[in-house]
Amino acid sequence: PPAIMWFRRDLRLADNPALLDAVAAGDGSVLGLFVLDPALFAPAGGPRRDHLLSSLRALSTAMDGKLVIRAGDPAVVVPEVARATKAVSVHLAADYGPYGARRDEAVAAALDVPLERTGSPYAIAPGRIRNQQDRPYQVFTPYYRAWLEHGWRNPVDAPKGVTWIDAPGEPLPASEAVEGAGEADAVKRWQSWVEEVAAYDDERDRPDLDTTSRMSIPLKYGELHPRTMLADLTSPEGDAYRRQLAWREFCADLLARHPQAAWKPLRPEFERMAYDQPGPAFDAWCAGQTGFPIVDAGMRQLAESGFMHNRVRMVVASFLVKDLHIHWKHGARWFMRRLYDGDLASNSLNWQWVAGCGADASPYFRVFNPTTQGVKFDPNGDYVRRWVPQLRSFDGKTAHEPWRHGGCPDYPEPIVDHAEARLEALRRYEAIR
Ligand code: FAD
Repeated sequence: PPAIMWFRRDLRLADNPALLDAVAAGDGSVLGLFVLDPALFAPAGGPRRDHLLSSLRALSTAMDGKLVIRAGDPAVVVPEVARATKAVSVHLAADYGPYGARRDEAVAAALDVPLERTGSPYAIAPGRIRNQQDRPYQVFTPYYRAWLEHGWRNPVDAPKGVTWIDAPGEPLPASEAVEGAGEADAVKRWQSWVEEVAAYDDERDRPDLDTTSRMSIPLKYGELHPRTMLADLTSPEGDAYRRQLAWREFCADLLARHPQAAWKPLRPEFERMAYDQPGPAFDAWCAGQTGFPIVDAGMRQLAESGFMHNRVRMVVASFLVKDLHIHWKHGARWFMRRLYDGDLASNSLNWQWVAGCGADASPYFRVFNPTTQGVKFDPNGDYVRRWVPQLRSFDGKTAHEPWRHGGCPDYPEPIVDHAEARLEALRRYEAIR
């Protein structure tokens, strides 16, 4: 009899220890299953749905077209498939998200055969890194040191000569084909990008250069495992990049320990923070019509391409919370529906970092000036001109302050006075301290 490999956020064959376990568990044949769970699929937003479906098509192709797709509640569907195929066990990589962890418990309880968890989407599974008092870390830098010291396994190859078992399934819903989705393209992108890793530390904060790796997307779907990447990052040139991968793991670690952090502040005093309800200012933020070029460029990049540079994510998030005084959860939700890499842990914990209410957050009183940030990180204005065509007649960095250079009829005036908005943010913060 076969074993089942239940794919979720690990849409790859290489460096997939759960899959190796599935091959070893039964007679060597494996049924590869993906369950389209309406609870996750419906709210995901177009970019994530399209990428997922494109990635599943690529995975199925790599499995001789034998990936079995079923739609429904996994606690019903997985046991059904296991019974129908007389599978000996069901294999998967552990999920540490709040919904996924609960779902997997429900599936384990409903199965007649073992549910075997091997590995996770992280180099080091959430919960493993603990300090000398056996407590988890609240602050990133010591976590990072302990993470490096802990180390991880070497990557493993894809299993050879697997007999993929077929079973009745459903066709994948129609979707836009997303270029670059799937394991093969993820590997290709990584291998060519990592050759340039030495430039990363100097260039990573520059949205105009746009030279970051964009690996957040394949990492989100598990088209490539971070261990595979870490194995290519052993020289000191890779240090800055490794540190960023550790941020991803720190976010997952925090969310696994505090599932409520998905939408609620980690610092309890922030429960009392006075926020404004989303209204016209929120709409202007969403539409990239705030009159602050770097903010608008970021929001338009997000809407048009499903991606936003990290530095600009920080600037637009800070603007929403500290200039418009709107709760970060509204921005986080907007991001999740539009990002290809939308990931609950990285998204919510980064929003909390910017909003000052996270574990190891940027202090609330440090308020980004959107114009200064623009001039500093997009010094020639190329990024804002790329995404806000109305500003193309402004040369160099003048594009960051059109109001000081004659204004622009097709582009809004700033919707707030930043200096005033900053003081108001600080007043509200004083009130909760
Ligand atoms: P690179 O600079 O090439 O970084 C390499 C990898 O390191 C990334 O792919 C990512 O996996 C990881 N990484 C880098 N920075 C961070 C970080 N601050 N936190 C966690 N991991 C990081 N990242 C997501 O993957 N999904 C999200 O939904 C998400 N939402 C965010 C929301 C806000 C408000 C902010 C400020 C950041 C968010 N990030 C999120 C983190 C970061 O912006 C993206 O991971 C990064 O921009 C992706 O581009 P890249 O792959 O080219 O990054």
